[in-house]
Amino acid sequence: MAINWFPGHMNKARREINKVMGKVQLIIEVLDARIPFSSENPLVSGLRRDTPCIKVLNKRDLADPQITNQWLDYFRAQKQMTAIAVHKAETKKIQKLLDMGKRMLPKDRSTIKATTAMILGIPNVGKSTLINILAGRTIAKTGNVPAVTKRQQQVLLKNNIVLLDTPGFLWPKLTPKSCGYRLAITGAIKDAVIEYSDIAVFAASYFLKACPDALTSRYKLPSLPEDGSQLLVELGRRRGCIAKGGVVNIQKASEILIREYRQGLLGPISLESPADISAEQQENT
Ligand code: GDP
Repeated sequence: MAINWFPGHMNKARREINKVMGKVQLIIEVLDARIPFSSENPLVSGLRRDTPCIKVLNKRDLADPQITNQWLDYFRAQKQMTAIAVHKAETKKIQKLLDMGKRMLPKDRSTIKATTAMILGIPNVGKSTLINILAGRTIAKTGNVPAVTKRQQQVLLKNNIVLLDTPGFLWPKLTPKSCGYRLAITGAIKDAVIEYSDIAVFAASYFLKACPDALTSRYKLPSLPEDGSQLLVELGRRRGCIAKGGVVNIQKASEILIREYRQGLLGPISLESPADISAEQQENT
């Protein structure tokens, strides 16, 4: 899977974030609860220094609740950091973010002066949806397609908080390769630049290991296929993805698996746990 992120865009975003970082007392980073590690922007940890940070694990309706709890503990154990898991229908819980943020600030700041908070997140994690909920009105465009450019926005919220939307656009972690695959599976990387069948084999192999029962029940499989490629063949057969000559159209089967996962039809499934990431990091060193 080859994905090129434009170095010009990356440098511009880095410069602009660095410029505003000095004015910011609070960082709100929106993550996809299914991939809290892969959906972090690699810039944030380097540029934030000790600025208080809330990691918002959004789309928790699509993630495994137990694994989400493990991620909440993981983030809460870090310096000047807290974390919350939400989904877009939980508007009251999302509003609480502002109070959580205020509590992280030094005493004088939280009561007297306006607080500037920067909200950031890679495309498609639900950042615009959250901005609209926090603002109580529609100010950010939402959609299911990762956007390329967004204007910087500044919104005055309740509690004397000024919310700055990230300037430029943010790219996700593309190394190690497994992060790239997970981002593609969730839809954080534009479908146009990925090979569906490539990511579907990765997804199918993972689902066979992580949630075999979800597969057998959704696709009415009499037994578990031996690997990811075989799962796609079986799925294709059952869903009528048959090309000329009776062979299974793997592209179509791949699209079905990824689409149904994204829609939550396989159930709430996380694609990575803190233990998975730690094991991968050890493998790569
Ligand atoms: P942005 O690119 O980060 O600004 O993402 P958007 O706010 O445009 O949201 C991307 C897609 O994710 C949209 O289709 C939203 O409706 C959907 N979305 C946002 N939050 C949630 C959530 O908590 N759960 C689910 N299932 N979908 C969500």
